[in-house]
Order: sequence, then C-alpha cells, then structure tokens
Amino acid sequence: MAFRTEEKELVCAVCGEASLQNVVVEFDPDESVPDLDMRPDEPHRSYIKHWVMECPHCGYCNASIDIPAEFTKEYPMSERYRKQGDDLAARFLKMSLSCEKSKVYNEAVKAALYAAWVCDDENDEERAAECRRTALRIYDSHKASLSGDHNIVLLAADLMRRTGDFDRVKKEYKGKYFPSTLYRLIAAFQMGLAEKGDSSCHKADEIPGIEVR
Ligand SMILES: [Zn+2]
Repeated sequence: MAFRTEEKELVCAVCGEASLQNVVVEFDPDESVPDLDMRPDEPHRSYIKHWVMECPHCGYCNASIDIPAEFTKEYPMSERYRKQGDDLAARFLKMSLSCEKSKVYNEAVKAALYAAWVCDDENDEERAAECRRTALRIYDSHKASLSGDHNIVLLAADLMRRTGDFDRVKKEYKGKYFPSTLYRLIAAFQMGLAEKGDSSCHKADEIPGIEVR
C-alpha cells in the first residue's frame, strides 16, 4: 500500500455546497527516485490523480475543495475556466487557474506541470508541451514574487528545456546564483542538457554529485 483513500464529505469553499470526495488519509513515505521536475516514480506516481479535487456544484478545482479562494463561484462557472475540459489534465489546469487567481503562484505553476505529467502518460506530446508553456507563462507573469523560490526557478529551467527552449535555459541560468550546492548541481545539469539540445525526461539521480535513495 503506497496510499489509502477514504470518501469524505467536504464543503466547497467557493459555493458552500457539500460533496463526497476521495481524500488521501494515509500514505507511505516516497523513497523512489524522482524525475528532474520532481515527478515521483511508482508507486507514488499513481497517487497524483488524488492531488486535485473538483466541486460537482460550481466546478471549483483545487488540491482540496475546502481551500479558501479569492473569488466567487462565478469564476469556476466562467467560460474561461470551463473550456479547459473535464479530464484529469483539465482539472489540474483548472486548479492552476484557481491558484493563480488566488495569488498562490507557485502552486499555480505546479498544477499546470501536473497537467503536463498526465499528458505525458497519455503520450499526448502536443498537449503536454502546451501545459508546460502554460506553467512557464504563469512563471513569467509573476516572476517578481517567484524569483525567491529556488525550487520553482529550477523547475522553470526544466519547463524551458522540455519545451525545447534551450537558448533561454543557457541565457537565464548561466552564472545564476543558487544558495546551495544541490541547487547549483541541478542548474548545471540542466545547462548541460540544454547545451546538448536534450528535451527528454531525466531522473534526479543522473546528476553527478547527487545521491538520491
Ligand atoms: Zn463549489
């Protein structure tokens, strides 16, 4: 058992209606080696689908529907929100819109990345790239507040490389200061891959000098 879910009644923070949701109540520590964008490997990979919930009444999506939002139910009911679609990747994109609207920009970037992971699994390369570009657009729009979050800054390097923007990785990360050896090693590794024009998925334990269990 990597994780266990239970059905629980939750009240939507946006519309106030209650619904039954699958909630992860227990999980084992993740000891697998993640990808460079911190995507977990199995068995935890299967648990990603539980990282988003959707209110069946207003359509609000977030990590949990009881997370307060800085908008009213008109937003999840809007055309812009609804047109994302109904599948798992779409729910993550809607979660990204919710987080961005509520000014939780790091979570907005990550939710768009999770949408990309879902598309990766479905071998939908075009949509995966679109989701990564969405994540980058959020990163670019809120750079002032995200530039101090080194995890997000490194994640952005992976987003750029995976969408084939090697020049940007080389330009933005060359000589960039990071406060720890770990971050510097990851940044150098991303630069090396960008130099080679490598846009494929890599694992964190491929980085020289990094030991991952
Ligand atoms: Zn709702």
